[in-house]
Amino acid sequence: MNFARRIEKLPPYLFAEISRKIAEKRSQGVDVISLAIGDPDLPTPEHLIESLREASLDVANHRYPETVGLLELREAIARWYERRFGVSLDPQREVLPLIGSKEGIGHIALCFVDPGDVALVPDPGYPVYAVGTMFAGGEAYYLPLREENGFLPDLEAVPPDVLRKAKALWLNYPNNPTGAVADLAFFERAAAFAREHGLAVLHDGPYSEVAFDGYRPPSFLEAEGAREVGIEFHSLSKSYNMTGWRVAMAVGNAEIIDALMRVKSNLDSGIPQAIQRMAIAALDGPQECIEEHNLVYQRRRDRLVSALRGLGLRVSPPKASLYVWARVPDGTSSVQYATRLLDEAGVVVTPGIGYGPSGEGYVRLSLTIPDEQLEEGVRRLEALRL
Ligand SMILES: *Cc1c(COP(=O)(O)O)cnc(C)c1O
Repeated sequence: MNFARRIEKLPPYLFAEISRKIAEKRSQGVDVISLAIGDPDLPTPEHLIESLREASLDVANHRYPETVGLLELREAIARWYERRFGVSLDPQREVLPLIGSKEGIGHIALCFVDPGDVALVPDPGYPVYAVGTMFAGGEAYYLPLREENGFLPDLEAVPPDVLRKAKALWLNYPNNPTGAVADLAFFERAAAFAREHGLAVLHDGPYSEVAFDGYRPPSFLEAEGAREVGIEFHSLSKSYNMTGWRVAMAVGNAEIIDALMRVKSNLDSGIPQAIQRMAIAALDGPQECIEEHNLVYQRRRDRLVSALRGLGLRVSPPKASLYVWARVPDGTSSVQYATRLLDEAGVVVTPGIGYGPSGEGYVRLSLTIPDEQLEEGVRRLEALRL
């Protein structure tokens, strides 16, 4: 087959190799415990399933939806942003529902990146920022997230020749994979930096509701100057255990929202309307489920952090996100360490290198595994002599 170059340029998928090893272990009869996947194990709350069931019976929801989404959904998103962050949004111009935020994150590159352009991308980071940039013909410039800087990028360190070609700055807090958080002062510095250099800020914030110990992560849009330069992606996936239903949103700068809407209207026909109804029920309905889920994750976090410290790893308990990011011993690579945990304990973790070059030296463990399995994983880690 004569494929386009962009297909050959796709990075080798590290996780395919891990899946192969897991399958091999399982076929040998090993009971593998996977801490590798960031997908809530708890079910979607019952009242949301009920709203979907009802909406599925309404024939108005059997036809093509519109790309812009139901006005009622855009209004519910605006109400939620107002209640949660004190940010007011115009549902007609500053809100765009997405078929999961991954969809919008992948497509937004088409709004900013021409061949030869650059997007500034966090390293380690969610792979879609860089791949979307490459699909649009541009190049990702990696911003290393270093532990000594609290896993925030050093914006002043970006060379001037890179900045001249840069069109967009990607940020993601609470962060996947490091679990780091950012405050409003950082977001304000990023907005000012973007204005100075003519960049759009694209903030990816699906973990704003997954937080512990009473911490409440801010929205990028609360920062002064944010709406002039950027948008925020948010998702119902992690907040309401709705990864399977594919519903999310982009909010903020009206010009950017309009550009993304124009790209999308040429590619997709929107979110199935029954699922839009379900999203309205989630945003407008009772929010207790969020705190309940967070208490479960917090307990799992504490169990995991103490087991990892017992192994002599350096790790701080994350204030938010679904991940524990642990430093492996010096002289061991992240792939070597992950392989050892799999071979000696049957426990799967993801090597940090899979999230970018600066992820080397770390492994990521996910909190989205049922309690009994987590306990078994912790027991095996505690029994290890590494
Ligand atoms: C899970 C995740 C997403 C994708 O969420 P969907 O809305 O389900 O597509 C986006 N960004 C990051 C950093 C994530 O971890």
